[in-house]
Amino acid sequence: MKVTQADYVISAVGPAQYPNNGLPEFALAGRSNVGKSSFINKMLNRRNLVRISEKPGKTQKLNYFIINDSFYFVDVPGYGYAKVSKKEKEAWGRMLETYFAERTVLSAVVHLVDLRHPPSKEDVQMHEFLAFYKRPVITIATKADKIPKSRQQKHKQIIAQTLSLTPEDPLILFSSQTGAGKEEAWRALEHYLH
Ligand code: GDP
Repeated sequence: MKVTQADYVISAVGPAQYPNNGLPEFALAGRSNVGKSSFINKMLNRRNLVRISEKPGKTQKLNYFIINDSFYFVDVPGYGYAKVSKKEKEAWGRMLETYFAERTVLSAVVHLVDLRHPPSKEDVQMHEFLAFYKRPVITIATKADKIPKSRQQKHKQIIAQTLSLTPEDPLILFSSQTGAGKEEAWRALEHYLH
């Protein structure tokens, strides 16, 4: 994918604010600090389109970015941030449930997990939640540069097992530091654009 244009559109608090021009979109989900902002910036060749390590859990909004005037990236607020109140977590859950259940233009979900650690309980719940709504999932294992090549396959296998992925489910090792996995990630996304 040659990214010729990428712009912030809106931080939407609910369906009334979601774009309604029918363009396809990809949601990006993952626990706070997994490297989601870094992933988006790297994929779009931007340093600062999405702010890295903005205080996690602060925004409970869906941040829309338009790419090449033809599709959207939707940055979903990170989960698993301990300091978020129960009330805030419930509001977050309700918003996402509606979004994943009802959003017809949602083509696929990019689910980010950390290659260094086995997926958390919340990572597994998110994966099951997306499967329940029959959303195609592209799993991205971030921070691959932090694991030596000799151990990457083992870590990859643990992620696939813990999330109960089948061999057909895309699972891509990614590093926003080195750019590893970027082309493969774009290929997986492009699959849903044609
Ligand atoms: P977010 O909270 O999921 O948006 O995560 P960020 O993109 O803000 O990243 C959290 C931290 O992990 C920051 O300090 C990043 O610099 C770091 N980070 C993100 N991706 C990578 C990566 O691929 N490799 C390494 N070594 N660090 C990363």
